[in-house]
Amino acid sequence: MPTALITGITGQDGAYLAKFLLGKGYRIAGLLRRSASSDIIGERLRWLGILDDVTFVDGNMTDLSSLIRVVKDVAPDEIYNLAAQSFVAASWQQPLLTGSVTGLGVVNMLEAIRIARPEARFYQASSSEMFGKVQEPVQSERTPFYPRSPYAVAKLFGHWSTVNYRESFGMHASSGILFNHESPLRGLEFVTRKVTDGVARIKLGLADKLALGNMGAMRDWGHAREYVEAMWLMLQQDEPDNYVIATGRTSSIRDLCRIAFSYVGLNYQDHTVTSSDLMRPAEVEILLGDPGKAHRQLGWQARISLEDMIAEMVEADLSRHRARLKA
Ligand code: NDP
Ligand code: GDP
Repeated sequence: MPTALITGITGQDGAYLAKFLLGKGYRIAGLLRRSASSDIIGERLRWLGILDDVTFVDGNMTDLSSLIRVVKDVAPDEIYNLAAQSFVAASWQQPLLTGSVTGLGVVNMLEAIRIARPEARFYQASSSEMFGKVQEPVQSERTPFYPRSPYAVAKLFGHWSTVNYRESFGMHASSGILFNHESPLRGLEFVTRKVTDGVARIKLGLADKLALGNMGAMRDWGHAREYVEAMWLMLQQDEPDNYVIATGRTSSIRDLCRIAFSYVGLNYQDHTVTSSDLMRPAEVEILLGDPGKAHRQLGWQARISLEDMIAEMVEADLSRHRARLKA
């Protein structure tokens, strides 16, 4: 039975990846940072019905000694490094923490592997945010980077560190440059989930308006359930590499609102307001990925449409709020 270590297992992707790998017969160890809220920290895993099927190991991305101990004890065949301060807007409020977790944390893990388990295969969760102020209309593995936030700068450091450890030490270290991916388990602060939760609350009469920032920004949105499969496929290849994972379609926040509100029979223009407080100091206006290499080399392709994903998310948020109202 192969063993996988997942950092960030309590997040959106960690939960879906754990479920996917359990289905493939893996033993799963998940890095858990100590928290006063440990009773609720496994909510996403519980939602997927797998909380009792994973083992938690104690550590923090900023503490190299904890990572060395974990890698030694778990002896994983594959390590998926998903842990990060992952919210772009927060990275201007906490740039140093973002640099240390999202950037330096990657090198902490690479060092732990180099010291304790050099034969393990490594996946780094890189991000389309690294393209930032885009240098080409469609972004591929060959597009130059231009990060626009402390988060993106930190991710770029993690990406190049992964490439460097591959080239320096022959490690099987791959970097997945994933475009935005969402699901009912997405954090409430991200725009898709904020909108689907807002739609549910407005539909149920719990709110009337939803405040948003830049409605013109465009993203290439896919479904997290499909994107975690691409992570696994990267680690099954003979050679490590970099891969863009995307749908190849881009839509605006306005499009997202139109789809989500009209799903419950509402007009988004009646219920959305823009707030200058939600604008970012530097914006990534548009992202659109070219998933051609992933399709050719991994046989991977996004299949779930934005409309179907938004419908799934609105339904999940309606159910959550209805359950709360009943309680
Ligand atoms: P989430 O924000 O949902 O999850 C982040 C995870 O990192 C949580 O489990 C969190 O733990 C953990 N974490 C944060 N800080 C530390 C720390 N110091 N030590 C250990 N663990 C820590 O992110 P997603 O699941 O959405 O994303 C997964 C990865 O993919 C992230 O690295 C993200 O930046 C990257 N990514 C995501 C994209 C997306 O669209 N979702 C796009 C491209 C890249 P806790 O629960 O304790 O807070
Ligand atoms: P990101 O691409 O990782 O930054 O994902 P987000 O979901 O946080 O943001 C996607 C885009 O939506 C960005 O261009 C934001 O500026 C834009 N946006 C507009 N209004 C909001 C909002 O209220 N919250 C968030 N999170 N983003 C918003």
